[in-house]
Amino acid sequence: MSGVSKSYGDVAALADAELAIRHGEMLAIVGPSGSGKSTLLNIMGTLARPTAGTVRIGGHAVDELSDRELSALRAATIGFVFQSFHLAAGVPALDAVADGMLYSGRPLRERRRLARRTLRRVGLGHRLFNEPHQLSGGEKQRVAIARAVLGDPPLLLADEPTGALDSRSGTVVMELLHELHAAGTTVVVITHDRDIAASLPREVRIKDGRIESDSAVPERTVLR
Ligand code: ADP
Ligand code: MG
Repeated sequence: MSGVSKSYGDVAALADAELAIRHGEMLAIVGPSGSGKSTLLNIMGTLARPTAGTVRIGGHAVDELSDRELSALRAATIGFVFQSFHLAAGVPALDAVADGMLYSGRPLRERRRLARRTLRRVGLGHRLFNEPHQLSGGEKQRVAIARAVLGDPPLLLADEPTGALDSRSGTVVMELLHELHAAGTTVVVITHDRDIAASLPREVRIKDGRIESDSAVPERTVLR
C-alpha cells in the first residue's frame, strides 16, 4: 500500500498508510478501537476502495482492475476471517465450507470433498454435519477458517479472529493460524490482545488512522 487514505465524510479512517507485506509473512495489526484497523484490512483485502493511494496485490494495481477482475483476484488470492464467524444458521459445517467456493465453478461433489479435507485439517473431521448452534465459538471460528482457506489462498486476513472467544479457544485458533503460516500462507491478524500480538513475528501499530510503528521498519523511516 502506498499513500493509502480512506475518509468517511469528515472522518479520516485511514491516513497516508505505507505498508508492504511480503509473501509468507505473519503479522499483527494492533491499535485502539476505532483506530482504522478494519478499514486497513478491508482495503488490503479489496473489500473497500481507498479514497486516495495505491494498493498492489501480487503486482496488480487494484484500482486498475475492473470489478470482475477484482472479484476473480480476490477469490483466488484472499481468504477472510471475521470476529463474528459469519456462518449462516441451519447450514452444516460441510456445506458452509463448500459454499466458500461457490463461485469457483467447481461441482458440488468436488467442493464437498475439498471441504471435508479442509475441515479435517482444522481438526473438525467429527463435526461435518453440525450446524452453527451445535458448535462452540472456537469450533465455529475453525469452520470459518476452513471456509477461508478452502481454495488455498496465499493470503489470509483475519479481523479480530479471537475477539469473541474464551482464551482457550482463542489459543486453538491462533495455533491454527500459525500452522497455516508455517505451511506457506501469508497471515495478517488484527488483534486487541497484546500477548497474541507479541507472539507474532511482526507488529504494525495504528492509531487515529495512522500507522504509528511497524516492527519491520526502522523507526525513523515510518512516515507520519
Ligand atoms: P477499528 O477496526 O480499528 O475499530 P475501523 O476501521 O472500523 O476501526 O474504523 C475507523 C474509523 O472509521 C472509526 O471512526 C469508524 O467510526 C469509521 N468508519 C469505519 N467504517 C465506516 C463506515 N462504513 N462509515 C462511516 N464511518 C466508518
Ligand atoms: Mg475493527
